[in-house]
Amino acid sequence: NRRVVLAARPRGSPTPRDFRLDEAAVPTPAEGQVLLRTLYLSLDPYMRQVMDEIPPVYAPSVPLGDPMAGGTVNRVVASRHPRFRAGDLVLGRAGWQDYALSDGQDLVPLGALTQPSLALGVLGMPAFTAYVGLLDIGRPQRGETVVVAAASGGVGAVVGQLARLKGARVVGIAGGADKCRYAVEELGFDVCLDRRDPRLAEHLAAACPNGIDIYFENVGGAVFEAVLPLLNVGARVPVCGLISHYNEETPPAGPNLLPGVMTAVLQKRITVQGLVILDHYADRFDAFFRDMGEWVAAGQVKLREDVVDGLENAPTALIGLLQGRNFGKLVVRVADV
Ligand code: NDP
Repeated sequence: NRRVVLAARPRGSPTPRDFRLDEAAVPTPAEGQVLLRTLYLSLDPYMRQVMDEIPPVYAPSVPLGDPMAGGTVNRVVASRHPRFRAGDLVLGRAGWQDYALSDGQDLVPLGALTQPSLALGVLGMPAFTAYVGLLDIGRPQRGETVVVAAASGGVGAVVGQLARLKGARVVGIAGGADKCRYAVEELGFDVCLDRRDPRLAEHLAAACPNGIDIYFENVGGAVFEAVLPLLNVGARVPVCGLISHYNEETPPAGPNLLPGVMTAVLQKRITVQGLVILDHYADRFDAFFRDMGEWVAAGQVKLREDVVDGLENAPTALIGLLQGRNFGKLVVRVADV
């Protein structure tokens, strides 16, 4: 059983030395358990946070020497559980390893989903996050302006397409010309701007002549600073992620922006609301799965997958995700279906 374990807690950006590929015996299921073979492993930004010693928000901090945590698509290879049979395809949380045991509580049957990796992307957690964050917190209205960064990624691509479906004007921000072209030509964004352009703030103001009604916050940092002066009275800011800060060891140097931020929140009556998607599975997942299934089938929502082959390549791929080297929803193909 090959496993990628956490070898050290990163200082700043993770490096390959923070991970270790080791080999353990394939475990044997006890009564009430199943043995899972990992087919696909989802790589997501929160994995940087669980490498640190932090209070649990998305998942508990990974103990040193344990396999990295992560959502997976698995094949049941042996079952001593009444609800599962060998051969079943399930959504699980097996983490960064070839095989894992489960008592079934964390497993969701996937039936005969023809492309199982979709359960980690456009029919799974990132798209669900976009759905709840945009529709329930952002509440886009026809003609409003929506801005989202990491626009070609798992969450951002779906935010932009849902905002278009609701009749809003969508301005994306992404890392580089290829991602921007993709957002406009393939995903139907109205405009997409390069986050590394030194004149981002100026271009964003020009792209949002009527101001910004919804800023779906995925990144923080310089993008948020460019957005803040453009927010309209009554703007909504679902706060989903702050990826530009995940590798920071210490807070960035001043000036202190807090008074300016809070003055804008007050004077423009801005609603800023945090989102942790785990809170919403019980109430909203079924509606999401039904709606998104229809939109995907109708070709109204799509999400590019960035597939990396081999469990041993997961560390480099996660390090790259935190620097924008992925292009689309990042998944690792661990074994053939
Ligand atoms: P993506 O597929 O969008 O991949 C991450 C992207 O972030 C990169 O491709 C890059 O896009 C961008 N990025 C990386 N570094 C920086 C930086 N320094 N500044 C600005 N952008 C950067 O990931 P997801 O769609 O899975 O996640 C998007 C956000 O949503 C993350 O912040 C994540 O933590 C958050 N999230 C939150 C959840 C919740 O429950 N609150 C659930 C799921 C995700 P580019 O090159 O285009 O800039």
